[in-house]
Amino acid sequence: MKVKLLGRPTQAQLEAYQLAMSAYNSPEFKEWWDKTEFTEIPKGRTKAGILLELEKVQAQVMWVLVNRPWYKRWSSVIGWAEGEYIYTYTQQFNRMSPIERSSHFAHELLHCFPYLITHSFNPSKERDNSVPYQVGAFVEKFLRG
Ligand SMILES: [Zn+2]
Repeated sequence: MKVKLLGRPTQAQLEAYQLAMSAYNSPEFKEWWDKTEFTEIPKGRTKAGILLELEKVQAQVMWVLVNRPWYKRWSSVIGWAEGEYIYTYTQQFNRMSPIERSSHFAHELLHCFPYLITHSFNPSKERDNSVPYQVGAFVEKFLRG
């Protein structure tokens, strides 16, 4: 997987990005992908097709840290993605470990153009087994060693 980080990432963002890339590009990722079952694969796409896209299609993303508005102070959302942008709440980001940031980045990256891999909004078993959630969990596990 080749991803270009646009803009001026902080050292902590750069570290999380590099850790995520090392997980995506590990031989373990491919082995894990082959034996993992995913739910919520977007319409018209396949597990094999998505892996090919991740391997061959380069993305460029801008990772922006944003302040959480006061009226969302009780929300459990850490971040989200739109087009080529990943947004993460600064307060959450600062509280996370490098591995957690990396897992979060790996998840949000899949929502970005051109991958556009979605999952349902509300928590469920199906959502836990979606591509973005399972990849996020893999990255965390891989990095913890
Ligand atoms: Zn997501």
